[in-house]
Amino acid sequence: MTATRSFGLFINGETLDGSAGGTRDLVEPASGAPFGTVHLAGNSDVDAAVTAARAALDGAWGKTGGTERSRLLHALADAIGKNRNELVELEARNVGKAVSSVKLEVGGAAECFRFYASAIGTIGGRSNAMGASLLTYSLKEPVGVVAQIVPWNYPLLMAVWKLAPALAAGCSVVLKSDPQTPATALRLAQLATEVGFPAGAINVISADGPTTGSYLVGHPGIDKVAFTGSTRTGVEIMKLAAESIKRVTLELGGKSPNVLFADADLASAIPASAWAIFYASGQSCEARSRLLVEKSIYDEVVAKLTEAAAKIVQGDPLVAETQVGSLISLAQRERVHGFVQRAIAAGGTAVSGGAIPDGPGAFYPPTIITGLDNAAEIAQEEVFGPVVTVIPFEDEADAIRIANDTRYGLFATVWTGDPARALRVAGRIKSGMVGVNMPYTAFPGIPFGGYKQSGFGRELSVDAIDAYLETKGILVNTGNRPINPFGL
Ligand code: NAD
Repeated sequence: MTATRSFGLFINGETLDGSAGGTRDLVEPASGAPFGTVHLAGNSDVDAAVTAARAALDGAWGKTGGTERSRLLHALADAIGKNRNELVELEARNVGKAVSSVKLEVGGAAECFRFYASAIGTIGGRSNAMGASLLTYSLKEPVGVVAQIVPWNYPLLMAVWKLAPALAAGCSVVLKSDPQTPATALRLAQLATEVGFPAGAINVISADGPTTGSYLVGHPGIDKVAFTGSTRTGVEIMKLAAESIKRVTLELGGKSPNVLFADADLASAIPASAWAIFYASGQSCEARSRLLVEKSIYDEVVAKLTEAAAKIVQGDPLVAETQVGSLISLAQRERVHGFVQRAIAAGGTAVSGGAIPDGPGAFYPPTIITGLDNAAEIAQEEVFGPVVTVIPFEDEADAIRIANDTRYGLFATVWTGDPARALRVAGRIKSGMVGVNMPYTAFPGIPFGGYKQSGFGRELSVDAIDAYLETKGILVNTGNRPINPFGL
């Protein structure tokens, strides 16, 4: 069987099949079947995309006012709804993620556009009364042409989280998707053009990161870089952007704690904690990959979590009942398994999972590691797979100490029956977001982003629009007295 789909570049309102970075054949990670061919951008394609984005900003898109931008964002949300089945199938096949999950993500993509369609109304400067003859006010202006770089784990949702606030702010965009997952961001750009976004406002390319991605970040035509990916690449992006003082926001990795006190409602906490790590096979930046459990209930929690993990329905992502699909690739599975093997060699025990299954596809079972403390590699490094390390703690102070003993600070979940403690702990954990007695993480309107090496800048909230705006102060002399400060 040969690959049937072709994923080109989307530049200046057109899908282009030819590209300077060559082509690569893709397989469906859950089956190994051919998925399609991706056309990778090279530097000349980046030049063309940046030129188109600049022309849009200087032309039709730059002249599109807030009300019309809002209408277009709503229209794009409608288009996502109308094309939902196609987007779900593309994403599930491309990523190996269960359609039951991808449906939620496609719905979330539409909601994100609607949120920013409304949030456009929050854009505004200030005026200050300085004195009788001086009028001062500030204006908000789009920061310019933005490079947006997204990873493979949520190809559509990550693209939408970035595109929606940038377009709301009036920026034009060159979005680079990961070479492994070109499908849905490309389709989104096509839909945007169909609903009326001017040519050049949204350009989408797939490209190799270290070569063409670096070229995009350093490009003199780019004013701001918004990046989601690993902390390692985030360091590179900051260095490249520093050369010309580009604005930067970074959404990076995590090693998020899930803190379970003995007074928690285990009937919710156990299944929710399983979801919080095993959703999307653990390939989420906010995966709660460290389960910190109060010592008195440690054995009970490990036993119940093991039972819960065994019930998760893993398999063909296209089957409606499947809850968890495969990893993104066989290479990623090797990487994940390497972490697990080293954890076992270091004295840990895989009480669940921990072995590569027979058969095709990049599947890896839900894996629970015990017997290691927070200093272990598996508790400090982002595994990006369905692997949770369960670590006991003595008391509240010990729980907070362990939770914060990481270079990351993206998300934390706290489970307790004591509301005062919930708020105390939420206040003392150093992370950009904290969930109390619920595992869910991403809602339009709630700022999403990291402390420490999980990055800076916030997505999904009105804060994100600000990151795509410049503030200009205007000072106006409204008086009619002559001005001659040197008495010349
Ligand atoms: P990655 O950093 O390897 O790649 C991310 C993107 O950056 C890809 O598009 C890649 O092609 C590109 N890239 C790589 N090197 C580049 C360079 N030098 N210049 C420009 N672009 C470059 O990350 P990954 O392994 O693909 O993705 C997983 C990571 O993303 C995890 O660390 C995860 O935690 C993180 N992530 C974070 C969030 C968040 O919101 N904080 C969300 C999703 C994923």
